Formats: sequence, C-alpha cells, structure tokens
Amino acid sequence: MTRSATETDLGRTRRARRIGRELTETHPDAHCELDHGSPLELAVATILSAQCTDKKVNEVTPKLFARYPTAADYAGADRGEVEEMIKPTGFYRNKTTSLIQLGQALVERYDGRVPNRLADLVTLPGIGRKTANVILGNAFDVPGITVDTHFQRLVRRWGLTTETDPVKIEHEIGAMFPKRDWTMLSHRIIFHGRRVCHARKPACGACTLAKLCPSYGTGPTEPAAAAKLLKGPRARDLAAAAGVDPELVPAQAVRAEAP
Ligand code: SF4
Repeated sequence: MTRSATETDLGRTRRARRIGRELTETHPDAHCELDHGSPLELAVATILSAQCTDKKVNEVTPKLFARYPTAADYAGADRGEVEEMIKPTGFYRNKTTSLIQLGQALVERYDGRVPNRLADLVTLPGIGRKTANVILGNAFDVPGITVDTHFQRLVRRWGLTTETDPVKIEHEIGAMFPKRDWTMLSHRIIFHGRRVCHARKPACGACTLAKLCPSYGTGPTEPAAAAKLLKGPRARDLAAAAGVDPELVPAQAVRAEAP
C-alpha cells in the first residue's frame, strides 16, 4: 500500500487518530497477551515469544516462573533443565542462552532488577527494541510503541507510513498519537492484526475500519466470506461492531486461537 498522493500530513494524522478511536471501540479487551506478574517475568516471556504464539508461551511460563523466581536463578540455571522446560516454544537452545545471559547481566549490572529505561534494556541479552518497549509499556507504565509484524503490516495497509524499518515506523506513528496512548494503541493494533486484518486474508467485509482504510478490498468484502475470517473469543462481537450479522461467524472461529 502506498500513501495517497493527495492526503496531507495533517489529514493523515487525523485519519490515524480516527483509526485509533475506532480500535478503542472495536477491541475493549486489548491487553498484553503474555501472562506475567513482574518485569522479570515479562522479559522472560517476551524472549520466549519470538517465533511462537503467546498462548504457547503462557502454557510454559507458570512452571518456569515458579522454578526460577529471580534473575539469580536464571544466572545459575542448569541449561538442560531450562531447555527441557521451554522446548515447546521452539528455538529453545538460543532462548535458553538468552535467559541465562539475561539473568547474569541483571545480576552483574542491575542488582538483579530489570531496569526501566529503554537505553538500559536494549543492552541486555535477548532484548531488542521491540521487547524493551513491551516491557516499558506493560511492566513500568512508560509509554512504548511495539512494532511487531502485525503492527508493521497494518500501519502500512492503512497508508500511515511507507517505512519498512521498525524504528522509523515507531517514530513516525508515535508522532501521530499522544504519548500516553502509545502502549494501548500498540495492543489494539496487534489485536486487530490477530483477529481481523490477517496477513493473508484480511476480513475486510467485517472490519470496523473499512471506511478509513485505503486497503479495503485486500481481503473478501462480502460479509459472509469475511465473517468466517474473524478470530478469537469476541469474533461475533467484532462482526456486530462492523454491522455484520454475528450468526455468520462460525463456532470454530470463536474458538480459534488468534495467532
Ligand atoms: S479494511 Fe481490510 S485491509 Fe483494511 S484494516 Fe480492515 S481488514 Fe485490514
């Protein structure tokens, strides 16, 4: 999707904010989908979430968090034991290395605590800018924009940016919204990407953003076909919000895990 040549920067920002307001209505349940009870647990869960669904991570973490409650526990952990516990999340050897090194770095440099500044977080093993923003926004209430694969796809489909570099996208989209909204905006965009605006077949005909989206028509526009593509426990509510008969949403769509 390219930007409309006729839309001014101000017009684009206004449309972005309208999209933001619509998403607030569409996804009142948006939240960080990685279960956690502390900054350390969120840091560990986000490392495990690379190339893995949040649901799978949430299946693994209760035992892991109980076994390794502190950074020092990860620093001194037995590799084989960690590998075994996190195996279902994939790439478990690399992830185990990251978790042990994260524990060591936290103990050595931050007294065993997860720091609350972006500049410090990104120096930690296994923590890139995206993960750091997840931790800031959800564990420390510091506003952060999380540019994951869904976020990138959606803001480009909406014609809000033509950038492909996540840091440039973060700055460009961040400039369109008040800082205090950044964390929730990120959750809502990611929710929309997981439940409605899928990579392959977006549910355009059952999307609350249809009137604001220049990519309307990328997926089926016919309500019955589009309703079948909605996912997650609120799939029927999502259809109703878009003016589509909720009965068109099949039962398995409601049960389907949002990727
Ligand atoms: S109209 Fe289609 S492309 Fe646009 S946000 Fe909705 S589902 Fe995505």
